[in-house]
Amino acid sequence: MIPAILGGEPVRTKPLPYARQLIDEEDCQAVDEVLKSAFLTTGPKAGEFERVIAAYVGSSYAVSFSSGTAALHGACYAAGIMKGDEVITTPMTFAASSNCILYMGGTPVFADIDPETFNIDPEEIAKKITKKTKAIIPVDFTGQTVDIDAIKEQVKGTDIIIIEDSAHGLGTKYKGTRVGSLSDMTMFSFHPVKTITSGEGGMITTNNKEYYRKMVNFRSHCITRAPEQLIDKENGKWYYEMLDLGFNYRLTDFQAALGISQFKKIDKFISRRKEIVAKYNEAFKNLDGVILQKNADFSDTTNHLYVVKLDLPKLKVDRRQIFDAFMAENIGVFVHYIPVYWHPYYQQLGYKKGLCPKAEELYNCMLTVPLFPAMSDDDVHDVIEGFYKIIGYYRK
Ligand SMILES: *Cc1c(COP(=O)(O)O)cnc(C)c1O
Repeated sequence: MIPAILGGEPVRTKPLPYARQLIDEEDCQAVDEVLKSAFLTTGPKAGEFERVIAAYVGSSYAVSFSSGTAALHGACYAAGIMKGDEVITTPMTFAASSNCILYMGGTPVFADIDPETFNIDPEEIAKKITKKTKAIIPVDFTGQTVDIDAIKEQVKGTDIIIIEDSAHGLGTKYKGTRVGSLSDMTMFSFHPVKTITSGEGGMITTNNKEYYRKMVNFRSHCITRAPEQLIDKENGKWYYEMLDLGFNYRLTDFQAALGISQFKKIDKFISRRKEIVAKYNEAFKNLDGVILQKNADFSDTTNHLYVVKLDLPKLKVDRRQIFDAFMAENIGVFVHYIPVYWHPYYQQLGYKKGLCPKAEELYNCMLTVPLFPAMSDDDVHDVIEGFYKIIGYYRK
């Protein structure tokens, strides 16, 4: 078959995105109820959403934020990151995992990835630890957990704080335990493409009461009315104090209501993702020209993203042509991610290309395949057909 980009018939007539949310009537009703209630911004629903997520992941505390990015900022604040501190993270992530370090005046230090699992490599972390290392922000890329025990082993006997960016990993298990209480703090995102959505939204889970208190203040201007926190305790009931420089990062109650309603369906969402991934794995495992991501034994992943490597020397074209060929078939592939320090802003800060060769090599040949719970079996079939058509054509 001739790919559509070369004049053949496309596999699909209707474009398929790489991801999209699944909202039902129940979700709409949940939001509607809050819109008609007394609270629009952070109120009882935000608290309920926090309790639901904390119970699910087995953490003592959860703090909701207006986005996952704001949540990461809050975690970096609670960790006390400041100018002069180094924080180690992966380049194979969304820019927010690293930007949050810059927000606090810290210095991001990039450690290279494992070329098979695509996650930050604990051995590479070890090479980057210095006296200035304040924290590590590992990312559960595609939903697969990092090797948390191996990372903890590297920081044993130090005060280095682990903030796990699990924007992709709500529901994922590490050695049988759900991600969310294994690191000092864990971040989840509720952006529409993530496991469940609240429109925009994020959360930090932690077992540390001190971090919890700091984040609760931080997301609301660091303004407090709590008697035990006030400097001037002799004032009237209107009185409040701003104790530090905070932000307005509150999640609204109608977003929280959407999050709670979505959460009721998380098992269904995850099992549908697993079904689709099983079909992809079966179809692609022997497809010459495509290399699958390794799933580490310790990780039971929710499969946020399905990322493959293209065997470009074999296909004798570059990723751009393969990407464009899929788009011409109306199959919405994508690329996650451009190494963070390749972005012009980071280049201006002095980061040089070549810093993490394994991440850069992966970037050059990777492709994200459509995966979301609302995909029909026909959609899945179209994607597989597209792969056989395009990869088969260029492999010849
Ligand atoms: C989505 C995402 C974020 C940011 O979350 P938002 O809710 O979009 O702000 C951070 N890190 C990773 C890896 C993400 O995928």
